[in-house]
Amino acid sequence: MIMEKLLQVNNLKKHFDLGHGEILKAVDGVTFHINKGETFGIVGESGCGKSTAGRTIIGLYDRTEGEVLFNGKNIHNLKSRERFAFHRQIQMIFQDPYASLNPRSTVSEIISEPMEVHGLYPNKKERMKRVYQLLEDVGLNKDHANRYPHEFSGGQRQRIGIARALALDPEFIIADEPISALDVSIQAQVVNLLKRLQKEKGLTYLFIAHDLSMVKQISDRIGVMYLGQLVELTSSTELYNKPMHPYTQALLSAIPIPDPDVEDQRERIILQGELPSPINPPSGCVFRTRCPAAMEVCASEKPKWQEIDKDHFVACHLYDKNRTGGQDYSQVAATR
Ligand code: SF4
Repeated sequence: MIMEKLLQVNNLKKHFDLGHGEILKAVDGVTFHINKGETFGIVGESGCGKSTAGRTIIGLYDRTEGEVLFNGKNIHNLKSRERFAFHRQIQMIFQDPYASLNPRSTVSEIISEPMEVHGLYPNKKERMKRVYQLLEDVGLNKDHANRYPHEFSGGQRQRIGIARALALDPEFIIADEPISALDVSIQAQVVNLLKRLQKEKGLTYLFIAHDLSMVKQISDRIGVMYLGQLVELTSSTELYNKPMHPYTQALLSAIPIPDPDVEDQRERIILQGELPSPINPPSGCVFRTRCPAAMEVCASEKPKWQEIDKDHFVACHLYDKNRTGGQDYSQVAATR
């Protein structure tokens, strides 16, 4: 099957100048693409730059370097009318549904607002019909339209946030930790809702989260991010069956296994130390200060982004063929 690219991100960087000569490298050269109709997950610890990457792609932050192509068009060169149309095509769902909804607006006002801004459904009756339809699409109903955000549970508020994101009939949605603030029992419901809407409306998602087990539920492919950089990228299945980067292996080892016998055998890789500061990242491999498999070369040379298996990319010296004589070191990393 030929996949059509919807989004191409090339060497994207977002640095923040903190003054006094300090530069915070929140996103430091990430490259990936997202195919039409798929869900691409970005996973990593808090502070790894995944949310900043999402916000830079949608244009909430100006990029420092690199480019973003949407449907083949460089979004940084769009003229104002094209930019307006682009903003219709790409929407965002935020982590905290309460903070992202205006507490003084009713649900119908919240969902209608983007339509009014974009001049859609100028007829009020038609607009309300659209609001009711969107409420139904996300599992709410028309009786909710005249209520205020505080009258809803966290899960319901996230549904309102999703309805608002759908109001302009977008092609692409960036979901930034959309379930992290919700109870575990509600998380699966929201993930199932997003999956259903994707199928019904042909949506493409960028799903950002710190919880690898939840990212797996929804993503076709996953990029693992550490300190502003991608360290591994492959299909969701491959990542779980054959994680190559020591950081991915550590993240996976933290996920409980539902089978009690297997769970008893689970060996957890505990990462030592805190995430280093993106203001002063380690030399060479940014993961080296916490990596259980670090070698001398890791301090002096930045590992290359290499395709180790088909569509499986890793940045780690353990897989340098010339360094290891062609050996597969993935199991070495896995057992350390
Ligand atoms: Fe660990 Fe070195 Fe690989 Fe970085 S390059 S992940 S420090 S082995």
